[in-house]
Amino acid sequence: MDGNRDSTVLRGGTIVDGTGAPARKGDVLLRDGRIAALGEVPADAGRSFDCTGKVIAPGFIDAHSHMDFFSASGDPRHFDSFTAQGVTTFVSGNCGFSPFGFTPSTRYRSLLEGSLFKAGCETLDWNSFSEYAAVLDELGLTHNFVHLVGHGSARTSLSGFEARPLEPMEYREMLSLLDCAMQEGAAGVSLGLQYKPGVFARLGELDDVARLVKRHDKLLTVHAKAYSCFSGTYPMIPFGRAHNLKAIDDMLGLARRTGVRLQFSHLIFVGSQTWKTVDEAVELFDRAIADGVDLCFDMFPYGCGATLLNTLLPEWFMARMPAALHSPVARTRLRIEAEVGFRLVGFGYPQMQIMNASCAKYDEHNGRFLPDIAARVGMSCFDTMLDILDESDAEARVLFHGYYNDEIVERLMRHPAAIFASDSWPEPGGHQNPAAFGTFPKFLRTARERNNISLEEAVHKMSGAAARRFRLSQRGELREGYAADVTVFDWGRVGERENEAGDAAPEGIDRVFVNGRQIFEQHRISHLPGAGELLKS
Ligand SMILES: [Zn+2]
Ligand SMILES: [Zn+2]
Repeated sequence: MDGNRDSTVLRGGTIVDGTGAPARKGDVLLRDGRIAALGEVPADAGRSFDCTGKVIAPGFIDAHSHMDFFSASGDPRHFDSFTAQGVTTFVSGNCGFSPFGFTPSTRYRSLLEGSLFKAGCETLDWNSFSEYAAVLDELGLTHNFVHLVGHGSARTSLSGFEARPLEPMEYREMLSLLDCAMQEGAAGVSLGLQYKPGVFARLGELDDVARLVKRHDKLLTVHAKAYSCFSGTYPMIPFGRAHNLKAIDDMLGLARRTGVRLQFSHLIFVGSQTWKTVDEAVELFDRAIADGVDLCFDMFPYGCGATLLNTLLPEWFMARMPAALHSPVARTRLRIEAEVGFRLVGFGYPQMQIMNASCAKYDEHNGRFLPDIAARVGMSCFDTMLDILDESDAEARVLFHGYYNDEIVERLMRHPAAIFASDSWPEPGGHQNPAAFGTFPKFLRTARERNNISLEEAVHKMSGAAARRFRLSQRGELREGYAADVTVFDWGRVGERENEAGDAAPEGIDRVFVNGRQIFEQHRISHLPGAGELLKS
């Protein structure tokens, strides 16, 4: 048999190696899943693809993903929209949610299984990271995965969604669950402080989690307690500090106290009033970095993001769900708080788009904005919102708009601590989050058209920088001996596209290789379970 059977030559392209170094012309030889040579490769080295006029880059790393439940579903089509963007590696288990890290004897398995991110994998048929990894191994991954263990999952398995501090025994068990998952290879811990039950955790608890992560020398990622200048997750103090800044203060304080390596998740600024805090937020990050805090943030390039409708609810209301939905007193208080809050934030019903109402009564309205739905059902926006929460058991998924404007996106992209991510997943039904389809092409197009960062920097932030952040060994760069994760694209043309349903495939992505195996070739996806790897650290 031909000795070069597993060899591929990408010939005559522009090599952007992921380190941020200047692009250079050359060939790249992929052999046995590795990058075997760069520069000039002999003509007979293997199957050859002409890459004239194309960029040869490391496969893109989605530094903030929620594809972990999907990876256990055994259906590789869930990954199509990411494959078509050039993604080869996902960092999963973010925002406090992971499909492992729970105590096997938990009474709350159904809460864990009711995750926001599930599809095709409805039950957790394993009890630890190792067992989960074995299931993935059996199914055969199509992409590479790095997993974080969710503090929220560990905590849910012990005290459900109860609004209380953990008992001493539960506390020890929570830390031991996280410890165990990291020992088994999880790359760090994620916090989800705006979701139940992370929202109920006190700073002291988070400090202990951070110290544990620090002891493993791994990474702590945090979905902070607030991303708007006013948020129900903090008490309201007139003329007090903007809540999103307070949330940043809290997490930078935690990093300073504990020395943990911190990844601030999806640094967004919800609502036009919150946009005024961008300068100060960036200053806080700059100062912490100057003081030696090991800190990065991830971001996506869209002004909207997907989440649960119930993230709008203040902590006191969430703690009394679902009864509060039917309490006239609670509703009245919530209505007043919402009116005031929306005005303070510069955000409201017109910025709420229902992606997946997750209930029969409202599913026909998927993709519509709240005022439109309210008009159609003949109720106020407020009543409609609560009815959707009620009908969906608080599972309704939304796209919130007004997270960024273009100027903020362009500015944050330039920041040295920014790495790129989609924070998205394919919705099993309803309207799609465009980030699941166009994130990386959109970053590249923005860089090309706005010239806010160079091609080399843009690629770096979606490959080499992310690989370093998560300590992925021998990935994220085009370098001899490194894994052959490669994306070939047309720099002059690459970009996202838009359509009504939010699911338009991007253009300009040419070829994608995972560990040397081609999974995408000019709009054609090949599902190759076994191409990807589970990366433990
Ligand atoms: Zn999050
Ligand atoms: Zn997230």
